[in-house]
Amino acid sequence: MKKTQQNLELEVKGRRESQVTMKSQIDHFHLMLESLPQIAFTLNESGTVDFVNGKWYEYSTSEQNFPEIYPDDPDITEEFERCRKKGKALELEVRIKNVVSGNYRYHLLRVTPVYDEGRIKNWVGTFTDIDDQKKVEKEKDEFLSIASHELKTPLTSIKAYVQLLERKLKLDKESSEAGFVTKVQGQIEKLNTLITDLLDVSKIENGKLKINKKPVNLENLISNAIETIIQTHDQREVKIERHGTKPDILIPLDEIRIEQVLINFLTNAIKYSPDNNQVIVTTFVDEEAEEVRVNVTDFGIGIPDFKQDAVFKKFYRVEESSLQFQGMGIGLFICSEIIKQHHGHVGVSSIVDEGSTFYFTLPLN
Ligand code: ADP
Repeated sequence: MKKTQQNLELEVKGRRESQVTMKSQIDHFHLMLESLPQIAFTLNESGTVDFVNGKWYEYSTSEQNFPEIYPDDPDITEEFERCRKKGKALELEVRIKNVVSGNYRYHLLRVTPVYDEGRIKNWVGTFTDIDDQKKVEKEKDEFLSIASHELKTPLTSIKAYVQLLERKLKLDKESSEAGFVTKVQGQIEKLNTLITDLLDVSKIENGKLKINKKPVNLENLISNAIETIIQTHDQREVKIERHGTKPDILIPLDEIRIEQVLINFLTNAIKYSPDNNQVIVTTFVDEEAEEVRVNVTDFGIGIPDFKQDAVFKKFYRVEESSLQFQGMGIGLFICSEIIKQHHGHVGVSSIVDEGSTFYFTLPLN
């Protein structure tokens, strides 16, 4: 009995000690959250807020209530519940109301699960003020939209006048003057593509990129795109092979936009392969998954592993190659938005110095 009592006393002592250590760890953790410049809070495993730092009270009057959200923005509780059920972290941009000024400010909300022995113990959340950054982004988008619209108008008239000039002058095709006119037209076309891309970006920002779907034969579309590329490049410069099951079927899509995606992939495949002129277009029709996949493979410079996802981001260019090749880094961003609007996916797999395969999928229905 005495021995058992001694054991019990020892156990109680041990537990007390570990409770004290745990409490000091929690206090330390809360102190850390308190010192953050962001709003920080924790939630227990059932999703109830159980700690908030001082910053919280600039946006909420009580610990129990999340800050008030702008009426058009997603509901934090609902969004968090969805993530909690899946056991996944939440990331959300929301406008929340400052209790003193009454103004809404954009915040990035992040709530991350904390695991203990394989199960979620609690959640740690932060609201980071991104309002200034959002304002600058908005101004930049507005500038982009205005600049591209303003540039487009004079360019269209330059294009028309050069065409008129060419017709009026009736130049001998072999003359150097005719060569100059062709060069001017080539440069106008390049400028036109750049401005059109910028306009597309501003349309995407404003949710105005319209997709007009109608049933289109995908195989014909692919052949047309390949033909366009061959015509606009020197024959020695490109060799495009066609592999896989041909999607000789009608698929609901926006013909012009999907052709734009394919032409972009093909142009990049050629541009980023200075020492190899071979490109392969492979298609797969997956009846079970009800989708078609188009791969564009090149044997060029490739992209490092950790930069592959970023190439679809706006204005992103791989640093190592950005000086050698001209570009603005928006082509793939536009492509991914176009495919997204078709409910498909884009992606890339690549090995540095061996080549890349860019792909997109489209649902068959
Ligand atoms: P841009 O070519 O104008 O820079 P994109 O949006 O088309 O813009 O491409 C973004 C970046 O992705 C490029 O700057 C380049 O670094 C990389 N990239 C795209 N396609 C390829 C490719 N086929 N091979 C290697 N890198 C590529």
